[in-house]
Amino acid sequence: MRVEIEARLGLRAFDVYGLSEIMGPGVACECVAQAGLHGWEDHFLFEVVDPESGRVLPVGEVGELVITTLTKEALPMLRYRTRDVTRLTTAPCACGRTHLRILRITGRNDDMLIIRGVNVYPSQLEAVLVGRPGLAPHYQLVVERRGALDHVGVDVEARPGIAADAWGAIARDATHQIKSLIGITTEVRVHAPGEIPRSQGKAVRVRDLRPKEEIAS
Ligand SMILES: [Zn+2]
Repeated sequence: MRVEIEARLGLRAFDVYGLSEIMGPGVACECVAQAGLHGWEDHFLFEVVDPESGRVLPVGEVGELVITTLTKEALPMLRYRTRDVTRLTTAPCACGRTHLRILRITGRNDDMLIIRGVNVYPSQLEAVLVGRPGLAPHYQLVVERRGALDHVGVDVEARPGIAADAWGAIARDATHQIKSLIGITTEVRVHAPGEIPRSQGKAVRVRDLRPKEEIAS
């Protein structure tokens, strides 16, 4: 998506990270190296913890990002659990800054779906779908219970200019990639450009239509 934004608008797009509970946008920001987001360590303490035990993990290991505000007044946050899954690096950055970097956010703890016993993050599916030939970067997952089994529909959009008679092959290719990389069987449905609902603000990527009590069991 970044490549597309940069190409179409003729600019360089930079990722900014923030949370309303901490201060909003600006908790961490990419530099010209675009190789992770520098966290402003003079204002925040960043930790990555094991989401189950809460144990602090060594730098570089994947876990849940936890932030403590160091200078915020009136409403300081102590070890705020972001639910964002990522890892940190203290390796030198090409830009020369020494603040640690938050690497790609790969999902959220509370986004995780359990599909026929397999733990799946929507971001894993996104990683497979985005960049596949013929597909636009818009998708939605629809999880349903059919009989005793979970059924996952993946609604995707063809890129403008792709002939409709190619959609079947695109869907088969995406189904195969998801199965081989994530291990779940899905029904990929290719739609015309513009048909996937767009949302204001954060995109709604998952519609879990399973009965609530069955999800918990
Ligand atoms: Zn940098």
